[in-house]
Amino acid sequence: MNAALQSSLAVTGCIRGNLVDPVVLLQELIRFPTENPPGDVRACVGFIQEVLGLLGIDSTIYARDAMRPNLVARLPGRGVAPPLLLTGHIDVVPVSGQRWTVDPFAGLMKDGFIWGRGALDMKGGLAMLIAAFVAMRDSPPPGDVVLCVLCDEETGGQNGAGFLVDDHPELFAGVRHAIGEFGGFSFDLFGSRFVPIQVDERQFVGITANIFEAGGHAALKGTANAAVSAARFVQKVSSLVFPIVETVPTKRMLRTMASSVGPVASAALRLLGIPKVAPLIIRVLGDRASALSSCMASSVTVTMIQCGTKRNVVPSIAVVEMDARLVPGDSLENILERLRKLAPFGTKFTVHAQPRQKSETDMSQYERLEALLRKEYPGVIPVPMLLPGTTDARHFNRLDIQTYGFLPVAMPKGMAYMALIHGTDERIPVEALHVGARLIESYVSGYQG
Ligand SMILES: [Zn+2]
Repeated sequence: MNAALQSSLAVTGCIRGNLVDPVVLLQELIRFPTENPPGDVRACVGFIQEVLGLLGIDSTIYARDAMRPNLVARLPGRGVAPPLLLTGHIDVVPVSGQRWTVDPFAGLMKDGFIWGRGALDMKGGLAMLIAAFVAMRDSPPPGDVVLCVLCDEETGGQNGAGFLVDDHPELFAGVRHAIGEFGGFSFDLFGSRFVPIQVDERQFVGITANIFEAGGHAALKGTANAAVSAARFVQKVSSLVFPIVETVPTKRMLRTMASSVGPVASAALRLLGIPKVAPLIIRVLGDRASALSSCMASSVTVTMIQCGTKRNVVPSIAVVEMDARLVPGDSLENILERLRKLAPFGTKFTVHAQPRQKSETDMSQYERLEALLRKEYPGVIPVPMLLPGTTDARHFNRLDIQTYGFLPVAMPKGMAYMALIHGTDERIPVEALHVGARLIESYVSGYQG
């Protein structure tokens, strides 16, 4: 079979009547190795454009870098609610160095799962969003729906969401809310099953410290050494503990969790919500609290140290790179003040940060999303989540758009979602794709702004 025929069969294979089958679509999307780096998503985005085109839906490509295009399509609504954004990224993290038991780019269906790189993060979610988007064409929702298929998320989104927000903000005029990653997957803790809905995230800030010392000949004892000063500084930074900051999402998350677990766990969770005693509780809970605690306080992690040019020269400068994550409500000045106190005299700090526009989390859509999950999965407890890491949500935040991570995936008991994303043998339950698409569609169909 020639390549053109094969590709057109793949396009038509995703379509059932007037609808997109999210399972087949996901299998096809996985077959495009959109690993980032290098982040070439041209063929995959072209494929989605063909699928939409065959269903009579126009879409436009926007690219800052030709290898990394983004696709935007708009479905007209009934004009009685503001437009709503559906957003997902099509790039995936590389598989190099991982030992998969299946071909990560075969889009295999096996044991009730679709296997492959991106099945969870986030081609599966994107397949749900596209299926829901297409399904609404024949029964227009209250407001317009904007679908964004984005590149580059896994390397910061500068050519994806960042580019669209900077260069084409008109595409998002009037949009206040978005559905995207991260959330909707289930996890088990203290004998209960929870589903997080991402409502906010910590802000990423890069910090560079330039440490200066006299330096000189390595044979002379007592020469002030930038390597040694940097080592001392790094040691101190690594033991920094930042205070717990109370935020609307984490307060509500802890309260909800506390009311749905046994008495001992409940008491521990309630104490976690009190900044003064929380550090003690985190120590007692150990591993079980690590995910919870990392969304409750800011952090600084040393990631790179550069120093020295030659074995017999004592270095006079050391450069320490740090990854700082700020909890909403904490200030960068607080973090820098702590770091300055630990650094040797004369250290110069440089900050690399994109400002955050929205300071308060907009929880207005949370209740509806929570109700949809409760109805679909009785016994499962939705909780709002402040993500310790970052997603494209931070770019849309600059346009005052609140993103909700709502890509429902009911994981089988004992299977840890977090261990599979970016990991080996990433896979998604087949059934989750249909359910997820249906839940997203019901949310959008009832959206009132
Ligand atoms: Zn992702």
